[in-house]
Amino acid sequence: MVNRLFLGFPVPMEAGVALAATLPRLPGRPVPSDNLHLTIRFLGDVDEVTRDRLSAALDESELGGGFDIVLGEMGAFPRPAKASVLWIGLAQGRRELIALNGVVEEACDLAGLEPEERPYSPHLTISRIRPEVDTRPLLLSYRPEPIKWKASELILYESRLDRGTVYVSLEQFPL
Ligand code: ATP
Ligand code: MG
Repeated sequence: MVNRLFLGFPVPMEAGVALAATLPRLPGRPVPSDNLHLTIRFLGDVDEVTRDRLSAALDESELGGGFDIVLGEMGAFPRPAKASVLWIGLAQGRRELIALNGVVEEACDLAGLEPEERPYSPHLTISRIRPEVDTRPLLLSYRPEPIKWKASELILYESRLDRGTVYVSLEQFPL
């Protein structure tokens, strides 16, 4: 069995509700509130043996303690003038997420996964846009609220892409 997996943090429901209250109508396909998450490491298709190795490696890893996440400005990938992804950045917690991504990368290596070549950039995806649009006016008008929660456990998710994306929490790793 091979499953599409990733490691990340959910956005608690209250934080998702508070965020939605700050957002205007977004272009593209907004991420449903149940699916809002911060990705730490996308794993792609992983077989059971590799998953077990990764799980064991994460159990042995020093993941650091829980930390506060505070949401910040809105941004867009690949660039605001021609955006395909809209995201909310972090006013607090970036450093910890980047450190955790480094620890997780080592566990992935121990498990035999291919290294992630792309640099890690913590963000909360809020909409996916096809075709791309100019989001500069939207980004300029957005006034961030300091929405805050505590990240206390890393989650191994399965991503099921059939009939609308559903993320299933498979394992928890306390920080
Ligand atoms: P959908 O693909 O249906 O729009 P999704 O992108 O959230 O939904 P996945 O493609 O399974 O679902 O991705 C899960 C998470 O991993 C998301 O946060 C996504 O941005 C991230 N991700 C997906 N592919 C990659 C990749 N190649 N590199 C880095 N992160 C990725
Ligand atoms: Mg995707």
